[in-house]
Amino acid sequence: MKKQTGSMDTLVSLAKRRGFIFPGSEIYGGLANSWDYGPLGSRMRMNLKKLWWKRFVESRDDMVGLDGAILMNPRVWEASGHVATFSDPMVEDVVTHKRYRADHIIEEKTGVNTSGMTLHEMSQIISDKKILSPDGNPLSEPRQFNLMFETTMGTVAGEGNRVYLRPETAQAMFVDFKSVATTSRKRLPFGIAQIGKAFRNEITPGNFIFRTLEFEQMEIEYFLEERDWETLFDTWHREMYAFAREVGISAELLHDFEVPDTERAHYSKRTVDIMFDFPFGQKELWGIAYRGDFDLRQHQEHSGQSLEYTDPEDNKRKILPHVVEPTFGVDRTILAILVSAYEEQVVGEGDTRVVLHLKPEIAPYQVAVLPLMKKDGLAEEAREIHRALLKHFRSDYDETGSVGKRYRRHDEIGTPYCITFDYDSKNDRCVTVRDRDTMVQERVNIEELSAYLDRKMNQHS
Ligand code: ATP
Repeated sequence: MKKQTGSMDTLVSLAKRRGFIFPGSEIYGGLANSWDYGPLGSRMRMNLKKLWWKRFVESRDDMVGLDGAILMNPRVWEASGHVATFSDPMVEDVVTHKRYRADHIIEEKTGVNTSGMTLHEMSQIISDKKILSPDGNPLSEPRQFNLMFETTMGTVAGEGNRVYLRPETAQAMFVDFKSVATTSRKRLPFGIAQIGKAFRNEITPGNFIFRTLEFEQMEIEYFLEERDWETLFDTWHREMYAFAREVGISAELLHDFEVPDTERAHYSKRTVDIMFDFPFGQKELWGIAYRGDFDLRQHQEHSGQSLEYTDPEDNKRKILPHVVEPTFGVDRTILAILVSAYEEQVVGEGDTRVVLHLKPEIAPYQVAVLPLMKKDGLAEEAREIHRALLKHFRSDYDETGSVGKRYRRHDEIGTPYCITFDYDSKNDRCVTVRDRDTMVQERVNIEELSAYLDRKMNQHS
C-alpha cells in the first residue's frame, strides 16, 4: 500500500465535505478566518478537551481547574504588560491598505532574522532592500499594532468603559491564585488548569485554523518554589510529548525550538516552542515557558493585594511562587492531529482510499453499525445493536449506499471499527467487525461485542 499525506487543500476540503469544519457565516459570504466546527469536528474537539482535562486535572492530585471570565478588569492587562507590549510590528501597503507583519515580510523577502530588531532597524532594511508588498506597492513605516480586541461595556460608550476580550486564558489563573490556593488547600508545587476562548486581532491570520482571531487555549500555570523550576520544567516538557502521543500527533513531525535570549521575554529564563511540521512549514504548535514570579509580582504591585503563599511547614515563611506555564492551542492541536492522521492509500489497481487514522479516543465515532441491506429485518436488528452500543461507545448507524461505500465513508472520518449485520447474523448471532487500519474482518458474537471492542480499543491506544 502506498502512503501519501495530505496537502492543506485536501484537508480543508475533507473537513468541509464531511462536516468537521466549515467556513463561518458562510451563507452571508463568510467572515474572513472564522471557522465553525460541524457535527464531526465538534465531537472531535470535545474529545480532545476531555482527554486533556482528564489527564492534567482529574488524574492528578496536584492540579485544580478554573473557568475564568473572558472579560476582566482592564487593569489586569496593564499589570500583565499586554496593554504596553502585546503587539506585532505592522506595515501597510500604501495603495491597497492591506496590512502585513513587518518581521514576516522582511524574513520572507531577505532571509534576515528579525528577532530583537527595533522598528527603526526594520524600516532601514525595508528601504535599503527596496522591499515591496506582495502586490508590488511601497510599504508604510513599520509601527507596533496591539493585538488585543477592545469592546465597550454597558450602554455608555467611552474611555472609562473600555474592556478587552482576553488574549490568553492565563491571567485569570494568576489573578485568582490566592482564592484558588486558599479554597483548594493545595501545597506547592501545584497547578491551575483552564480551557477557554482567547481573542487576538492578528495582522496576518490564515492557514485554515492555524491562526485565527478567535481560538481556544488549554493552559496550565504550575506554581512552584524557585529552586525546583528546572526539574519541573523538564517534567512538564515530557508530559506535553506524552499528551501528543496520547492524542495521535506523529512524534516525527514534532521538534523543540529553544527560544534564544534575544527573543525571550526578559523575565523568562527558558522557553521552548514545540514546533510541528504543518503542510505550510514548521510552526509553533504549543509552548512551555518558565515565567519566574513575574506575573504574581506584577498583579501584587498593581492591585495592592498580597498574593503570597504561606509555607504550611512552619506557617511563617512567605513565598511568592514561581511558575512554569505549559500552553496548548486547541485548534492547532486539531490541525496537527488531522495532518498526522491523514493518509491516501492505493489499495488496488486505480483504487485509492482516504483514511484518517484517528485514535479511538479522539475519533468522532468509535464504531459504526451497518446493516448489509435495509430490507428483510436487517436494519431493525442492526439499529438495536447500535442503540445498545451507544451506552458505552460513540456509535453511528449508517444504512445508505453499498457496504463498500459506507466503509470508505467511515475510513474518511476516522471511525476505527465498522460492524456489519448480514443474513448469517440472523442465525449465528455474529457480526463482522472491520478494522479501519488493517481492513481485516472478524466474526464476533453479538453478546461479546462490547468486550471485544473494549479490548481492541485498549490495544489501539
Ligand atoms: P505565534 O508565535 O504563532 O503567534 P504565540 O507564541 O503568540 O504564537 P502563545 O501566546 O504562546 O502563542 O499562545 C499559546 C498557544 O495558543 C500557541 O502555542 C498556539 O497553540 C495557540 N495560539 C496562539 N495564537 C493563536 C491564533 N491566532 N490562532 C490559533 N491558535 C493560536
